[in-house]
Amino acid sequence: MLAPFRSRGAVAYAIAGLCLVLATALRFALDPFLGNHLSFSFYFLAVAVAAWTGGVWPAVVTAFLSCLIGNYLFTHPQGSLTIHDYEELLSLSLFVAVSFAIGILSEISLRALERARVAERAKDEFMATVAHELRSPLSVIHYANALNRISGNEHAQDHNELIERQVSHLSLLIEDLLDLSRVAHGKIRLNRRHIDASAVVEGAIEKSRPLLASRKHNLRLEIAAEPMSLFVDPVRLEQVLTNLLTNAAKYTPDGGEIRVTVAPLGDNAVFTIRDSGIGIAEDMLPHIFDMFAQADRAAAQSDGGLGIGLALVRNLVELHGGSVSVSSGGPNCGSEFVVSLPLEQNASMPEVLSST
Ligand code: ADP
Repeated sequence: MLAPFRSRGAVAYAIAGLCLVLATALRFALDPFLGNHLSFSFYFLAVAVAAWTGGVWPAVVTAFLSCLIGNYLFTHPQGSLTIHDYEELLSLSLFVAVSFAIGILSEISLRALERARVAERAKDEFMATVAHELRSPLSVIHYANALNRISGNEHAQDHNELIERQVSHLSLLIEDLLDLSRVAHGKIRLNRRHIDASAVVEGAIEKSRPLLASRKHNLRLEIAAEPMSLFVDPVRLEQVLTNLLTNAAKYTPDGGEIRVTVAPLGDNAVFTIRDSGIGIAEDMLPHIFDMFAQADRAAAQSDGGLGIGLALVRNLVELHGGSVSVSSGGPNCGSEFVVSLPLEQNASMPEVLSST
């Protein structure tokens, strides 16, 4: 691909100026053969180079100067900027129109190239993260296995628990990766059932318990007394809540407070997961549900992740006709995630499709 040399500021205008000088010199050299003809055509190349290297503005300036120079030096009578006849007006208008098209088209392709480059970089970074995230648990499993072999039965239970945790972390990562591709292809389908909100939240807590326990977090659960019937895909909703609970556990220093509440609010059931953890910087909050969004990981002391969990959370919640939001007091002030889902009488009746 002909990748452009994208220059900025003064450099872009210097290149445009150089092209103008070269085009003028060439036109001068050919003046004895051309006479009053092709006064502007030589400048197309200058405009194209200026557009391709600097974008639309250097191209506009080059086109404007080309009109002045071409008119002043190469159209009869020379040394005057006035337009004398219909033919001169026509060729000048044509030059301006084509230059404008060159400038706009170059800008569009430069932006497309830039977007492709950013996407390529994001993909490379993502692949590196995936490789890293898969390698870490594998190394721990390998190490625990080796210890098992050396120490026999003595600490086997501890090592086996370690292996179990890493294996479930690995399978979560792989599930997230598979879901990422399902989301990208719009292939996630909901298998809705009637279920009470409390059952789903309890299921998610059971799944997150090993991590919560290993981090010695204190979990407080408050479920409103009244029934909160939902018409949802329980597996997917449990996945949403497990993801939020896992994050709360990961991004809270050991021994932290995690509070989960479920209560009806108007026509919705509202799940709130609040932690006393590292919090989220204000400028990160609007991007936190974007694919691959990750704040400072070193500060998180986390088990790692791919930066796709919250994007999946938002996607799944929206598929259910609900919404998810985040708030945080800032770094080290904890975070709060709120998932709101329509109670059963309000849930739009969906097609029941198999969950893949
Ligand atoms: P990851 O795999 O990195 O955990 P997520 O999509 O689940 O990806 O989260 C994206 C980013 O949001 C995380 O990397 C982390 O920086 C931030 N984050 C998510 N949940 C919390 C939380 N409870 N407290 C602080 N930061 C969080």
